[in-house]
Amino acid sequence: MDPRGIGMTSQRTRDRLVGRLLERGISNSDVLSVIREMPRHLFVDEALASRAYEDTALPIGHGQTISQPYIVAKMTEILLEGAARGKVLEVGTGSGYQTAVLSQLVERVFSVERIAPLQNQARERFYQLKLNNIKLKHSDGNWGWEWYAPYDGIIVTCAPEQVPNELLLQLAPGGRLVIPVGGSSGQSLRVIDRIEDRYEEVELDAVSFVPLLSGQV
Ligand code: SAH
Repeated sequence: MDPRGIGMTSQRTRDRLVGRLLERGISNSDVLSVIREMPRHLFVDEALASRAYEDTALPIGHGQTISQPYIVAKMTEILLEGAARGKVLEVGTGSGYQTAVLSQLVERVFSVERIAPLQNQARERFYQLKLNNIKLKHSDGNWGWEWYAPYDGIIVTCAPEQVPNELLLQLAPGGRLVIPVGGSSGQSLRVIDRIEDRYEEVELDAVSFVPLLSGQV
């Protein structure tokens, strides 16, 4: 498919999405311009391409979803406000859309995914879009990715019941972790800053992510 898009995937449709994100309070102009350029329709099945610029999560198979553009923008904005733009770890590659957005804003992105076919599709997309500052790993993100730690920022796109300890340990001093936390009774977005060996946590809005599961498939 053409990355430039036509009709429902055209630049005008993308600009409308950015307008909507502005209205909802996203103000970081770097984040907005990356979302304006990023062909989200290449991150979903062709049958869903015409809905790719709606501000909504969409199914990507294996019971998973591509995150809503607003939440991608919000989490990215929060991460950039509080972390250096060096190395970022993402847990839950999924379609690769959040990964691709991050890759345009920080030096290097490391992303782990437990479902191999999703990871392979994401890898293809990065290759097609010539995004070459992304490294992928097929593993359980509960354990982070120790080899490249510490990270300036960590973003988690699935919700654990509690913050995995390894992620806290792999955060650089001065780094920021953005993570949805909670179970079936509700989740909220948390922002955790590491200041030397102390952690400061702020709880933000209620959110709705797929659960963080253990093991890999
Ligand atoms: N950022 C992705 C979100 C995909 S949904 C996107 O916008 O497309 C969340 C992803 O987290 C799913 O692909 C799911 O398989 C993955 N996931 C869940 N538990 C995980 C774990 N323990 N380790 C790594 N990935 C996990």
